[in-house]
Amino acid sequence: MLSYQHAYHAGNFADVHKHLTLHAVIDHLLRKKSSITYVDTHAGRGLYPLDAAETVRLQEYREGVIPLWRGRQALTNEPLLSDWLAALASAQPDSSQLTHYPGSPWWMGYRLRNGDRQWLYELHPGEHELLAQQSFQEAVERIHGDGLKGLMQRLPVKTPRLCVLIDPSYERKTEYLEVAQTLLSVMRKARHAVVLVWYPLLPAGRHRELLEGVRDGGLRKVWYGEFTRQAPAEGQRGMVGSGMLVVNPPWGFDERLSAAMCPVVDHLGTPGVYRSGWWVEE
Ligand code: SAM
Repeated sequence: MLSYQHAYHAGNFADVHKHLTLHAVIDHLLRKKSSITYVDTHAGRGLYPLDAAETVRLQEYREGVIPLWRGRQALTNEPLLSDWLAALASAQPDSSQLTHYPGSPWWMGYRLRNGDRQWLYELHPGEHELLAQQSFQEAVERIHGDGLKGLMQRLPVKTPRLCVLIDPSYERKTEYLEVAQTLLSVMRKARHAVVLVWYPLLPAGRHRELLEGVRDGGLRKVWYGEFTRQAPAEGQRGMVGSGMLVVNPPWGFDERLSAAMCPVVDHLGTPGVYRSGWWVEE
């Protein structure tokens, strides 16, 4: 099917939640020297000009990255969030103006060190073509293909550590279960991998298939963080929240991220709630 294009949603509240979580995890992983393979199974096009026709059409960034960018001077006392905003500034052609929103390939790879690797999978030919036009370091491989199958074919990796982001568009209802099954298979082949999964909170509650699949499959050390924006009204169809799972989360990461999410919740206009904790403990 592949009709989803992330450009319509770039910089929205779910992107902020997802990329801040990713940033927090990677910040912790980089405290150790051993090299890492980063895999982004659903990479998108990598960089989103905020004045692109698709992005301007829905303007979801107005309730996402924009209020945080505008309030950034007042947010300097929150270390993780101000670090994230400084990284965002460094992704801009002119660091004083927010003109582009960087996607997960950038957030995952902008601090790539010697010996680290990054694999970016994207199935949509147009999105892959745009990703191929981005300039990345030599250690970044862009693959036009199915990210979940591609990842499974290449495990185990050659580096001592592995970090994976699984961020599908969930256009097909079966994707929730496919993600759960892939997650279980990844953890069988790479027990110590740190794996992040993004999922939407929709009134239909389909994400529960993913969460229950993970728990019933016997995975341990599964952390979740959910950012809910508003109570779903009867008959409402749109996304009301953003969820993240992290398998094998780094120690201390939850406290740092929760502290950073407090001002995010306060800044984004629509009333919201953030909660996090173990989905399945050790
Ligand atoms: N991860 C990106 C980010 O945070 O900037 C956004 C990714 S977007 C939610 C999902 C992407 O997955 C779309 O670009 C879509 O074309 C792509 N996609 C859909 N099915 C895929 C598959 N089986 N394998 C790889 N990419 C796929």
